[in-house]
Amino acid sequence: MWGGAPHTPLSYRHPVPPHTGAVSPIMVNYDTRRRRARNVAMRAALPFRPDDRCVVFGCGSLTRKAASKGLDGRLCRRHADYHSRHGSPYKGSYGAGIINRYRDAVLAWLEANSTDVWVVDAIGRVQGLYARSGPFVEAYRLRGLSPRERATKLWARLRRCEIDPKVVVASALAVELVISNDYQAVRTTEYRKVQVAKVVHRLASGSHRKWNTEGGLVELHKYPQSRGQVLRFVGADLVLATELLVDARLSTVNAAIATAAVKSLSRRVARRRSCEKELA
Ligand SMILES: [Zn+2]
Repeated sequence: MWGGAPHTPLSYRHPVPPHTGAVSPIMVNYDTRRRRARNVAMRAALPFRPDDRCVVFGCGSLTRKAASKGLDGRLCRRHADYHSRHGSPYKGSYGAGIINRYRDAVLAWLEANSTDVWVVDAIGRVQGLYARSGPFVEAYRLRGLSPRERATKLWARLRRCEIDPKVVVASALAVELVISNDYQAVRTTEYRKVQVAKVVHRLASGSHRKWNTEGGLVELHKYPQSRGQVLRFVGADLVLATELLVDARLSTVNAAIATAAVKSLSRRVARRRSCEKELA
């Protein structure tokens, strides 16, 4: 008699011990695949006309489905890409100039209120994101990972770059303030998530290497793309981490920043007047 366990074909083996309550990753992937297949079949079966146009006002291009370039029956290729990058098919991202001004002001407020219970809570949650993100992965080794895994690795990159969690919280609050003070803002949850994620993505986005070779110095600079589902996952993580602080303190921070801006402006005006008097 041969010893050991009888041979079981790989495809028949149960991926996790039975009755442990654990969820098999293979079963999860299988369910995900079936759900995606159903979703694709449903979108493919939706009726459309060959002259369907993009829903963005003034565009006039064929939708991707009408152009036989995909299943999107609402947007053309250009606006679908725009939506993927910015979280809205018609409003772009806020520039670094305005976000940085708000972030500096919010950072000053956070430092002045570092013992506030909601501030402590938000910073602790961001530290938790850092701690749960697993080992650091270089930006040029992200290929093949799912959007959820890539989003988690962004937190590991921020941890590796020693980005202060307070700066991450300030970035999220700055975006919330910019949106709340913008009279033409897009106020969808998706847009907020993408905008928050793009700001955090800029804090530590790339990997850089240099080698000395016989032919001279070789440099590798790799930046993960700031677009797609990754941004939605990063934004969801950060919105969840800071939502209690935003709910409790956003109006307070807004008022404090407005007061500080008025004081700064009045100081500048006073300084200018004193200069004018000296010159006169
Ligand atoms: Zn369009």
